[in-house]
Amino acid sequence: MNAECNGKSILFVEDEQEIADIVTLHLGDLNYQITHTTDGIKGLTLALKDSWDLILLDLTLPKIDGLDICKQVRESNPATPIILVSARSGEEERVLGLDIGADDYITKPFSIDELIARVKAVLRRVDALQGLTPADVITVNGIVLDPARHTVTVSGRAVNLTAREFDLLLHFAKSPGQVFNRSEILENVWGTRHDGYLHTVNSHINRLRSKIECDPAKPAYIQTVWGVGYKLAS
Ligand code: CA
Repeated sequence: MNAECNGKSILFVEDEQEIADIVTLHLGDLNYQITHTTDGIKGLTLALKDSWDLILLDLTLPKIDGLDICKQVRESNPATPIILVSARSGEEERVLGLDIGADDYITKPFSIDELIARVKAVLRRVDALQGLTPADVITVNGIVLDPARHTVTVSGRAVNLTAREFDLLLHFAKSPGQVFNRSEILENVWGTRHDGYLHTVNSHINRLRSKIECDPAKPAYIQTVWGVGYKLAS
């Protein structure tokens, strides 16, 4: 029995039975409750019907693309963590996946240890947010972030953010006016120093801007400091 995992529910949509068996076995050993389906359509139905602590989603599925599943889940439940699993290793694919709201992206073939580390990292982040109390509400420049409820309003307007977008905004809101370069943002928000993810920072900043800014082309909140990085206007 692994106390850290505490029976957390994971939906695993993967059409390759061999990979599914190995992952299910190992995550099951760690006391995660795995529900696996090889069928993408069924996976989408399950993803929308039940609440999951995490969804592990293969991108290449018969009948439906994993990216479409990811998109639809995001629309109905922005906060459910999603890790994409894919044999497509191109940077474009990864950025696209993260851009439509996945929390992380792992490329096949992966080691089971790597997968477990990613799963734990994503779940830890969600737990950390849920451990916060209403007293932790942060107000900066008309933006109100409530980490315990995972809600954001901008000038009184509610904004739907994914878990990662929320973390990103929270990171800036904790230090308004402070400039962070992409590596610092990557390390603080994604918990990785892997340079291959630097584009991910840009795509998330753009996505965040499209949701919170009146004019994303002239951002009033998340500002670019040329040659350095980004800051939240204080
Ligand atoms: Ca597949």
